[in-house]
Amino acid sequence: MKVLFLSGGRGTPKLIEGFRSIVRDEAISVIVNTADDEIIYGLYISPDVDTIVYLFSNQLDTEKYWGIKGDTFNFMKFLRRLLEDSWFNLGDRDLAMHIFRTIMIQRGLKLSEVTKIVCRKLGVKSKIMPMTDSQVRTRVITELGELSFQEFHVKYRDRPQVYSIKFEGLSEAKPSEGVVKAIEEANILVIGPSNPINSIGPILGVRGIREAICRSRAVKVAVSPLVKGRPFSGPADKFMRACGLEVSSLSIANLYKDLIDYFVLDFEDDVSDEDISDLGVKPVRAKIYMGNADSKIRLAKLVLSLMEAKN
Ligand code: GDP
Repeated sequence: MKVLFLSGGRGTPKLIEGFRSIVRDEAISVIVNTADDEIIYGLYISPDVDTIVYLFSNQLDTEKYWGIKGDTFNFMKFLRRLLEDSWFNLGDRDLAMHIFRTIMIQRGLKLSEVTKIVCRKLGVKSKIMPMTDSQVRTRVITELGELSFQEFHVKYRDRPQVYSIKFEGLSEAKPSEGVVKAIEEANILVIGPSNPINSIGPILGVRGIREAICRSRAVKVAVSPLVKGRPFSGPADKFMRACGLEVSSLSIANLYKDLIDYFVLDFEDDVSDEDISDLGVKPVRAKIYMGNADSKIRLAKLVLSLMEAKN
């Protein structure tokens, strides 16, 4: 069996944690958003790829969903004495990852190649694929001017008013090696509960990915990242509004309707099952907040059962 996820750096990784309790790592592949990547302190940072790599190498800090658990921050303390406006936090061990990636990219390797090497060295058995090796960058147009995603999210803590969002380089981006094949070979494809605009949106915007998912014979499931129009974390609501979308699970199901068989939404969500069914998608009710290991496993079991139900 092959399980494939489309993932950002928080909501979907939680669901993947649940899956890891019921499916072998070898059976899991992940296509990861890279539109949040950025050069910071001269280093190539790929936050969502790192979260997934740390997850599968059993060292993710699952309080924060970035960085390595138990990491220290001596580098940051010293950097702040030298460079006061050091707003992007990097742990000491995490720093090694960014230095390694930067060196490899300077030597001419692609992001996907570096990711493969890192996975091998860290004993990761799942397949982790950056969505593209092309440069795609989320730009957030705000009251403070145009910001990178990290500036908006980390430096300004999602606070500025958002007028629009664009993805530089997305229209020219090609899928990285193995991405289309993974979609073709998947038995179950999960669009995880990640931000539909800046995590899943860019993945689906890479040339050929949407089409490959449409063609795929996998059982295709999306899980809502919202309940009653509210995200559990991050700026999904702000970003959806800036894109002219109503902030609801129904809008998200509508974005994915051509790609999925099932849409999982919360028991408490005020969107009706009929509205989801009218999109040609089967609604599935669940408790979608994953606050602890049990809730992650429960949701993963439910998603997996949809594959068994269809076959
Ligand atoms: P980012 O890369 O850090 O922006 O993270 P993602 O895009 O992967 O995840 C952000 C989304 O995850 C937000 O829209 C949250 O609502 C959603 N999310 C976070 N925790 C949970 C959870 O426990 N359950 C569900 N269903 N969604 C969650």
